[in-house]
Amino acid sequence: MLYGAHVSSSGGISKAIDRAEELGCDAVQVFTQSPRMWRPTAHAPEETSRFRARREEAGIGSVVCHALYLVNLASPDPDIHRKSVAALGATMQAASAIEADAVVFHLGSHLGAGLDEALTRIVRPLRGLLDLTDERLWLCLENCAGAGGTIGRSTDELAAVVEALERHERLGICLDSCHWWASGVDVTDHATLDEAVAELDRLVGLERLRCLHVNDAASALGSNLDRHASVGEGVMGRGLGTFLAHPAFQGLPAILETPGPEGRGPDAAEVRRLRDLHRNGVRNARRRAARRAGRSTA
Ligand SMILES: [Zn+2]
Ligand SMILES: [Zn+2]
Repeated sequence: MLYGAHVSSSGGISKAIDRAEELGCDAVQVFTQSPRMWRPTAHAPEETSRFRARREEAGIGSVVCHALYLVNLASPDPDIHRKSVAALGATMQAASAIEADAVVFHLGSHLGAGLDEALTRIVRPLRGLLDLTDERLWLCLENCAGAGGTIGRSTDELAAVVEALERHERLGICLDSCHWWASGVDVTDHATLDEAVAELDRLVGLERLRCLHVNDAASALGSNLDRHASVGEGVMGRGLGTFLAHPAFQGLPAILETPGPEGRGPDAAEVRRLRDLHRNGVRNARRRAARRAGRSTA
């Protein structure tokens, strides 16, 4: 597992690598522009080349770019729709320039119109955006907490989008533990998690799973409320270790998007807690497997 965090890219995008290194990360996620403004940041070539060089030095195994929150490919408002497509395109271009491994984005909200109508707006621009992927760069849909008309609240919805795009070979999935929890999947329970992962494999394919967002939740199971909590401080607590230890997730970048101790994102201590939680989870999973094997031979 590549332990990672979302970090600020203020002061130049290559600073994100310096920050990830200070946190002791193996993976990093950044915004390639201010997430609350449509206007893209022009990255100087010196910055993108320093980013790539520093990444090598720091041994960062995975780089993920998160698209801005304003993006809504399902919006019926032509202006918002056009801006959303342009913003995602700009994120893809910046991601290519820094040789990122994935762009993660939220599909947005159909605002009550339903998934079928939303698909008519989503599919065509996504085809164009998928043309910007390459042998390294994937475009990943993130599962959502399920508030309002947000799309991606279930594996069925993610699968409908993947199908509508003819199962494009560079269309990936980013799974957020907090969003899964809020949408009703108890990721702290072994049997529930096994079943949910099996469903994801059946409908979408685990080869599409490129990235995890690892967030504890400050909201109740099935509440549809997207409220991240720092590792060990939310309602999942040590149960988040069950999620981290799932065999299907090993080797993936596991990115913290948590408030952290001062509300400014995770610190090095939290990245260490993530690592400990993962290792404990794996140990517990082995013990459970051994106990089961013991029972079946007894
Ligand atoms: Zn997320
Ligand atoms: Zn969230």
